[in-house]
Amino acid sequence: MTMCSGREILDEVLHHLRFDEAVAARVRETSTVVPCLMPYVTSQFLVRRRDDRPKVVPEGSVNLAFIGQFAEVPDDVAFTFEYSVRTAWTAVAGLLDLAKQPPPVYKGHHDPHVLASALETMHHRPSTAGGRPPAGRRAAPDTLAR
Ligand SMILES: Cc1cc2nc3c(=O)[nH]c(=O)nc-3n(C[C@H](O)[C@H](O)[C@H](O)COP(=O)(O)OP(=O)(O)OC[C@H]3O[C@@H](n4cnc5c(N)ncnc54)[C@H](O)[C@@H]3O)c2cc1C
Repeated sequence: MTMCSGREILDEVLHHLRFDEAVAARVRETSTVVPCLMPYVTSQFLVRRRDDRPKVVPEGSVNLAFIGQFAEVPDDVAFTFEYSVRTAWTAVAGLLDLAKQPPPVYKGHHDPHVLASALETMHHRPSTAGGRPPAGRRAAPDTLAR
C-alpha cells in the first residue's frame, strides 16, 4: 500500500465497489486522490488493561474530564464517532450532574436479530430481498443519534 499512487488506490476502491465502467471512468476523471499514511491509527486497538486509560470523569473530579478515543468507556468499541461523542456526553452529564445520561452501549452481540443475520452472512445467504441491508448493518436502535 505504501508504494501505491493515488490513482492505484482509487482503482482498487472502484474495483471493490463494482461500479460499471462508465461510472468508474467518470470517477477517475473527476477525482484527485492524495495518499496519506496514518502510522499511529491502530494505536486505538492496542490491548489494554482496565486502568490503562483514564475514566471520562476520574474519581473525585469536579472540573476535569477526558474525552475521545483514549478515555475508558466500559463495553464500548473504540474507533467510532459514537465512542467519542459518548465520552463528551458522559463528561458533560457527569460534571454538570444532568439527569439525561447517554443511552446504554448497544450490544449487538446480544441481539438475536444481529446474531441470525451474522449467521446468514457467514453462509452467504442474503437475508432480505430488495437491497435492504441485514439487521447487523442497519443502525442500532439505541444509537446516540436518537
Ligand atoms: C480512515 C478512518 C476511517 C474511519 N471511519 C469511521 C467510520 O466509518 N465510522 C466511525 O464511527 N468512525 C470512523 N473513524 C473514526 C473516527 O474518525 C474517530 O473516532 C473520530 O473522528 C474521533 O473524534 P475525536 O473528536 O475524538 O478526535 P479527532 O477527530 O481525532 O479530533 C481531535 C482533534 O484534536 C486536534 N489536536 C490534536 N492534538 C492537538 C493539540 N495538541 N492541540 C490542539 N489540537 C490538537 C486534532 O488535530 C484533531 O482535529 C475512522 C477513522 C479513520 C482514521
